[in-house]
Amino acid sequence: MPDVIKVTRAVLPPIEEYIDEIAPMWESHWITNMGKKHAQLEKQLTEYLGVQRVSLMTNGHLALELALQAMKLKGEVITTPFTFASTTHAIVRNNLTPVFCDIEDDFYTIDTKKMESLVTDKTCAILPVHVYGNLCDVGEIERIARKYELKVLYDAAHAFGETYNGTGVGNYGDASVFSFHATKVFNTIEGGAVCFADEAFGKLLYHLKNFGISSEDVVDGVGANAKMSEFQAAMGICNLRHLDETLAGRRNVHERYMANLGNVKGLKLPQTQAGVLPNYAYFPILCDEAELGVSRNEIYNSLKKQGIYTRKYFYPLTSRFDCYHGKYDAYETPVALHVSKRVLTLPIYDTLALADVDRICKLILDMTA
Ligand SMILES: *Cc1c(COP(=O)(O)O)cnc(C)c1O
Repeated sequence: MPDVIKVTRAVLPPIEEYIDEIAPMWESHWITNMGKKHAQLEKQLTEYLGVQRVSLMTNGHLALELALQAMKLKGEVITTPFTFASTTHAIVRNNLTPVFCDIEDDFYTIDTKKMESLVTDKTCAILPVHVYGNLCDVGEIERIARKYELKVLYDAAHAFGETYNGTGVGNYGDASVFSFHATKVFNTIEGGAVCFADEAFGKLLYHLKNFGISSEDVVDGVGANAKMSEFQAAMGICNLRHLDETLAGRRNVHERYMANLGNVKGLKLPQTQAGVLPNYAYFPILCDEAELGVSRNEIYNSLKKQGIYTRKYFYPLTSRFDCYHGKYDAYETPVALHVSKRVLTLPIYDTLALADVDRICKLILDMTA
């Protein structure tokens, strides 16, 4: 029985490095609440991501929720249903109304050609997702946002470290949110960040992530607790040191999949985007049953029987979640619906052996032959 292969595997630094990083806390006893590690990681990420400002959060979801809250929005937010639960929940939990825009079928990002017709006098913001690390049409989104005076918050949870024509992707829109969850390209165990330029917005985020407390006697905001702990920040400092190796490992896996699966009719593989430096966060394949003779679900189930756990990211669409039953019509986003029924993300992480990639590909090829 071969070892089980999951869709991803959390990156961990050499244990000695982590111990060295956390050891000073046994002297200081300062283990959370914006300590030294927190300050250091914020500074390092500002440089690494090439952005103006970074506010660390305890996870990516609260980063989204608090960024939306700090924008002081009311009304409708144009967004994509082809994403992780977090994106849509963050809108709804801010008492805002998601308005779902379809995706385009090359990169699965929000389709800006279908966006303007969704703008109403209630629209206040756009929340697009750089899904799988594919960059949204940032230029067109900026044009639409300016024309209708809308805020733009990017869910960049999949796009850590990517650049577009040399510019860090965290620079687009009014703010961008990254996730540093264990399953992401860069992790702080749990964690996330908001990137932005406006200093006043940063002060508000700081206030909101610390319960809305202004001073010992003054609490003047309905905040949350979204502070990143020193242990999380220390993990980030260690993992950041090894990021080049992580990315190189992922790239090798990506290239092996491309070489092995490149000529299968009915399988659509990830495409490269002009000007984008990718991070190989995911390896989504689109399965056309008519051409392959086998469905996405059959591939998923057969691989599972062999101990290979792929994921149907993103199925179902968030607009089809049980908790939103009856509220949204998925037929209004037909491309998203089509893709969600056919997409499968294959295992990819830095230490996945190429022999295992070959084995996964052979199983798929044998099924589709
Ligand atoms: C992971 C993820 C999030 C949430 O981040 P957490 O750090 O897990 O809270 C949000 N949006 C997308 C698209 C994600 O993949």
